[in-house]
Amino acid sequence: MRRILVLGSTGSIGVQALEVIDACPDLVACGLACGTRRHEMQAQARARGIRDTVCAAGGGSLPATDDLAELIDASEPDLVLNGLVGAAGLQPTLATLARGIPVALANKETLVAGGALVAEVQARTGAALIPVDSEHSALFQLLAAVPPERVPAIILTASGGPFRGRTIAELAHVTARDALAHPTWSMGAKITVDSATLMNKGLEVIEAHHLFEVGYERIEVVIHPQSVVHGMIRLDDGSVMAHLGPPDMRVPIGFGLRWPDAPPQHGQMPLTGRTLEFMEPDDQTFRCLGLARAAGLAGGTAPAVLNAANEVAVAAFLDGRIGFLDIAALVASALETVAAGPGNDLEAVLGADRAARAAVDEALVGAAR
Ligand code: NAD
Ligand code: MG
Repeated sequence: MRRILVLGSTGSIGVQALEVIDACPDLVACGLACGTRRHEMQAQARARGIRDTVCAAGGGSLPATDDLAELIDASEPDLVLNGLVGAAGLQPTLATLARGIPVALANKETLVAGGALVAEVQARTGAALIPVDSEHSALFQLLAAVPPERVPAIILTASGGPFRGRTIAELAHVTARDALAHPTWSMGAKITVDSATLMNKGLEVIEAHHLFEVGYERIEVVIHPQSVVHGMIRLDDGSVMAHLGPPDMRVPIGFGLRWPDAPPQHGQMPLTGRTLEFMEPDDQTFRCLGLARAAGLAGGTAPAVLNAANEVAVAAFLDGRIGFLDIAALVASALETVAAGPGNDLEAVLGADRAARAAVDEALVGAAR
């Protein structure tokens, strides 16, 4: 029996993770944590006889690090599924790995903000990090099949989101409602907006850099509107290996929860009658992809600044306070104004995160005046 602590149990990933656990006889949920919707989490706990739960006090803020450490210790998990959203996921990942407990990671912001910190604690404890993000789950499996020296580049696919093909002029007036209508995936609000701006793919480039220790020049992005091919690797003989699956997060969640054992059974994916397209991303119109690459290359705390600025800007966009194109503009200006520090120092990373949030808040107040 594998005991799993589900962080973010009321979210899109958390709810699907509980579905996978419920359907798997050798998996059991031993603890739950969430940010809001406490009653929903209590109902999840009651239905499964789970005793250990934590809800962030006051909603929205990170559950006190002590509470989470206590939750990890009290619930005695064999694996922690991190389905939190935003940089709030970083410290729970670090606390788990520090205890030598493996993490199935959906929270990509962990690696964007704290990739170097994660590498450090993993080197110390040897705890595994198994990606749950669909592209990275695909790449994780592809890379396990081929010796690293045979792989000149890895390729992340992006659906392109609801605004694929639009011009800057057309994007000036799109609303949060337009952005939330994702063509192929049903997900939480923040990642859905990130998919529309292509920031999601930018965060995933940084995530892949840390997970697979691949230089940025060897990470390609290709638009693939059908979201059936999740990841590809280039081989030294000029060929490409691809991983295909239905656009259903329960597949990579199941893989992550049972790894290194065989994943749960899923029905077969129908292949015939499909068309698969691949195209170049339009990074002139969707600036966030390039901003993320630049922050990744700059290194240090720059990705933490990118991520925090994006979180605040996306929340303002969802509130109807700014336009769609303002998200990239606010992130770009935070990257210019917030001083960079070392990425392998937790205090520096948290400080950069706070400074970026303050910079965007200030810009928002200035714009509203
Ligand atoms: P969501 O908004 O649906 O759920 C987030 C969960 O985290 C909720 O349970 C919420 O209560 C909790 N939470 C938020 N802030 C918190 C805080 N400060 N303290 C404690 N709990 C907090 O988000 P989601 O779509 O499930 O995404 C979760 C993560 O998985 C994100 O990093 C996202 O990028 C990644 N991801 C999601 C999908 C998907 O299909 N939804 C796919 C790939 C990757
Ligand atoms: Mg993804």
